Amino acid sequence: MLKVAKFGGSSVAGADQFKKVKAIIQEDPARRIVIVSAAGKRSSSDHKLTDLLYLCYAHSQYGVDCSGVFDMIASRYLEIRDELGLKLDLEPELADLKRRIDAKTISQDELASRGEYFSAKLMAEFLGFQFVDATEWVKFKFDGTVDQEKTYAALKGFIKGKGIVTPGFYGIMPDGNIRTFTRGGSDITGALAAAALDADVYENWTDVSGILMADPRIVENPEVIPEVTYNELRELSYSGAQVLHEDAIFPVREKNIPINIRNTNAPDAPGTMIQED
Ligand code: ASP
Repeated sequence: MLKVAKFGGSSVAGADQFKKVKAIIQEDPARRIVIVSAAGKRSSSDHKLTDLLYLCYAHSQYGVDCSGVFDMIASRYLEIRDELGLKLDLEPELADLKRRIDAKTISQDELASRGEYFSAKLMAEFLGFQFVDATEWVKFKFDGTVDQEKTYAALKGFIKGKGIVTPGFYGIMPDGNIRTFTRGGSDITGALAAAALDADVYENWTDVSGILMADPRIVENPEVIPEVTYNELRELSYSGAQVLHEDAIFPVREKNIPINIRNTNAPDAPGTMIQED
């Protein structure tokens, strides 16, 4: 049994959320492949790290000093590391990143990808899993689409019994440059990992207990839909339901792997199962 577990931004927003992820992983030894997003908002007034990274890039493009924004990014990851008592030597990497931003020698995609990169580095140490960078296996073609064959083969090569943590959202171009998917793209990375390894299930961990029967901003405490088909999911997305990145369906559907939407904050809830029938 093999489960691929992708954790979204809210699931890795701070040290407490990291602890919840660890409990979920330790609860089921089949959860050996972990994909993480960049740290998300801890409260409604907080910021998602990816947004801050894009903001930093925009600053540098207009020649405006981005030190204030950069400090917000750096301190979030340093805080998570210190609160969890991890050893990861983040300071040199952060200093190098800042230097490259100031010198304008980093691309927008590479800078935006650093949120997932740091999340995964910290999570790997925290879980005692192997860190595998997305650049080692998510391979794009020159036209910007994923080279599935190369991607699947590369990931398989990293499976050696020990669990792995890998960053979502980005991969590598044939020329060695980092490229990101569109926003929300960590879902795609999770789907590619599940398909590559013929996982039994692709678990997508978020902050709701599955697909809800109504918009919770309009209806109080809507119930969860326990099962939907891939086709129904597509219709729901057309009418505006935001569940998964639309490009995350194809790789798993092609291999008939069910997607299970789960809640990191309510791990006992079964969530929603998305499958063919
Ligand atoms: N961090 C990226 C974003 O904010 C990707 C993701 O979270 O899936 O869009």
